[in-house]
Amino acid sequence: MPKPLNYDEALDRIQRMFPDHEVVVYDGDHGQESGIIEASDGTAVASFRLTLKERSDSAIPTVKKVRIGAVGQFCGMPGDIQAFEQSQSDPVYLDYNATTPMDPRVLQAMIPWFLAPSNAGSRTHIYGQRAKEAVETARRQIADLLNAPPEEVFFTSGATESNNLAILGLAEHGLKTGRKHVISTAIEHKAVLEPLDRLRQLGFEVDLAPVTRGGFVEPETIQRLLRPETLLVSVMHANNETGILQPVHEIQQLVAGTDTLFHTDAAQTFGKEVPALRSLKADMVSVSSHKIYGPQGVGALLVRRRGIQKRPVQPLFYGGGQERGLRPGTVPVALTVGFGEAARLAGEEWQSNRAAALQIRQQLLNDLNGIEYQINGDPERSLPHVMNVSFTCVDSEALMLTLRDQIAISNGSACNTTQHQQSYVLKMMGFEDERICNSIRLSWNHDESAKVAFHCLQSLTTYFSSFADR
Ligand code: PLP
Repeated sequence: MPKPLNYDEALDRIQRMFPDHEVVVYDGDHGQESGIIEASDGTAVASFRLTLKERSDSAIPTVKKVRIGAVGQFCGMPGDIQAFEQSQSDPVYLDYNATTPMDPRVLQAMIPWFLAPSNAGSRTHIYGQRAKEAVETARRQIADLLNAPPEEVFFTSGATESNNLAILGLAEHGLKTGRKHVISTAIEHKAVLEPLDRLRQLGFEVDLAPVTRGGFVEPETIQRLLRPETLLVSVMHANNETGILQPVHEIQQLVAGTDTLFHTDAAQTFGKEVPALRSLKADMVSVSSHKIYGPQGVGALLVRRRGIQKRPVQPLFYGGGQERGLRPGTVPVALTVGFGEAARLAGEEWQSNRAAALQIRQQLLNDLNGIEYQINGDPERSLPHVMNVSFTCVDSEALMLTLRDQIAISNGSACNTTQHQQSYVLKMMGFEDERICNSIRLSWNHDESAKVAFHCLQSLTTYFSSFADR
């Protein structure tokens, strides 16, 4: 057990966590000391509370609990208005892999389409024609990032639907042709794993390839699983929990020129890994708008034609024949326009965004200097804006809870032994339970505020580890 700290030692610990700041104690009533941590310009960056153990003798009281939180949270109303105002500000968002906020330029492009009567299927009037033109522009903007003809892009409600369409949409073809074998990986998103489960129920054989400790599947593993009757190989482009890129080009090459189709879930890389996706000759690619600052509720599936062959993918539902019958239903024009605009902006800005994300990554690595941590996944294969990291002896749930007023992060999946919801991705990578329970996923963009947040994370992690019972 760690040695109990007395009051001065606890203050000293806090001071060492924030070496460039001043620790100011405000009040010491009822066995509790509250205070704030101030930068040199007087702004408060955090607040703290020390709960002291009551002692009847005259010995120096020991500290029962030290809590550090958002500004204003524990500072016992010191009358510091600035500190109080800061406590109202939102935490820094570092969960960009889950979803991105919408770019205001995207919203601007969408507004007129919300306000106008816009049904791209109405051919008899100018409103319908305008809407159709807007949808076709968006289709070109998305196709451009995939180096595909626009007519091969089909709008859906998001990557979940695209994955379902790509996988379950092949069921009829597979059953008809007797090709009832499918290969994927054990670390796919649930939006791939669950449709694969459904295929199994329909009588298909599904092989889920294992991955290395680095978080990627080896092409040789896929090659070993391939059979003459393999209908589909589906491998994600980058994993959402770890940011690790998969060798999709090599895997696509394994099936090139055969009857086996190749699909990739590119929800995490579309608009980011632009040259890689432009050069990938996948038969199907799933993409999503809300990972690239576009609106939620829209995505697309690229379905490449193979020569003059009929498309093997069948729709999952039937109706008005929109999207050439593959995905019927009124196309949401405003959402589609927003997705197109987000893709256009990504096409123009991905290089500068990437450079900024890399710089922030470097800052994070600098901040982590001196802390015990392990990066989950091969850093050489990582997207620049994602890091899945386990801090030695620091439970991720406790860390996230303590930091929740400063940083919005996740660990991809809950880690609670009673619910058995450990990350299956990290489990498949072969990590032991403790490392998985200590893991958090940080995903940022090009916004500098991440740097401040990392500093805070570093401080808290140092603090937690210092109490660790090793
Ligand atoms: N696939 C991957 C790899 C993802 O990260 C996500 C989103 O979390 C999805 C699919 C689902 O995408 P959507 O929210 O557009 O349905």
